[in-house]
Amino acid sequence: MAIDYLRLSLTDRCNLNCVYCTPLEKKGFLRHEDLLRHEEIARAVAAFVKAGVRKVRLTGGEPLVKKNIVGLAGMLREIPGLEELALTTNGLLLAELAAPLREAGLDRVNISLDSLKKETFAKITGHGTGASAGADAFDRVWRGVEAALEMWPRGVKLNVVLMRRLNDAEAADFARLTLDRPLAVRFIEFYATNERAARLGDALVPTAETRRRIEDALGPLEAVAPSAADGPARVYKLRGAAGRIGFISGRSDYFCGACNRVRMDCTGKVYPCLFSGPTHDLRDLLRRGAPEEALASYIKKIFLVKSNHRKDAPGSGHIEMSSIGG
Ligand code: SAM
Repeated sequence: MAIDYLRLSLTDRCNLNCVYCTPLEKKGFLRHEDLLRHEEIARAVAAFVKAGVRKVRLTGGEPLVKKNIVGLAGMLREIPGLEELALTTNGLLLAELAAPLREAGLDRVNISLDSLKKETFAKITGHGTGASAGADAFDRVWRGVEAALEMWPRGVKLNVVLMRRLNDAEAADFARLTLDRPLAVRFIEFYATNERAARLGDALVPTAETRRRIEDALGPLEAVAPSAADGPARVYKLRGAAGRIGFISGRSDYFCGACNRVRMDCTGKVYPCLFSGPTHDLRDLLRRGAPEEALASYIKKIFLVKSNHRKDAPGSGHIEMSSIGG
């Protein structure tokens, strides 16, 4: 499978502190001088595109806390050959930024939202502890979802991580949202990626159970032919629904052979696989003024490392989701 998808983490900072993630537990944030500047990010992305990437997803940390994210999105969208620019966000700042981001050329948005109940949302996200989160954090996220649906009527996904004893009873509530909205709701299996997530114990709710809960409440799920935008998700629809329901089963399914993505963090480190750790670093090359051709041929070598790696099943090492964005 060709590697044509880059997930680009723009910052290690976040304005939420989710139970399975680590932004406020880290020893410190990255130093300003270690971060790639906008112009360096754009040069790196242009080289990835030259090496075969067609789709870029901005993630984090929380990408919307990145300074002048709209300007950066505009710079990236102008790169010839880039076919799609997408974003994954917690939605807190999306109500204000959706229109300018649409204007800058952003093509689609995934919003991470694990509960529709304010109390559970607060428990999961630790809101009130993050700098720009407040008591009305859930309402702000929901306004973000509505703004996104206005800007990208067919380009919004809600990503939901169900966890036992926290929000597993909400599977059908999330699925119900797809009945009259053109939303894609996607259930992502929980992953104990770090010590903090491991403290949640046996929180994994397997896809089969989530499906059962949805079908018991709302009737049968009909399989839908997946599109390129669905990635590793298996996609379904409730009868007569406007939207779709997807399952990303990283724990109970094995999809490395079909993986078409690489990741770069905000310092220029490249991860051929979420589980491999960073194996390459573009920052020095960028700062030494390497031409696009040289960057692209370096990147092609990374793609080769990935092609060899994906024959193996995922490992179980520590993953700093708050830095590399899942
Ligand atoms: N701040 C952005 C957001 O909230 O979407 C982007 C970064 S966040 C780390 C990206 C995604 O990773 C979120 O959808 C989050 O739910 C998911 N994630 C983080 N830790 C996870 C875990 N242990 N298991 C499953 N998904 C996880």
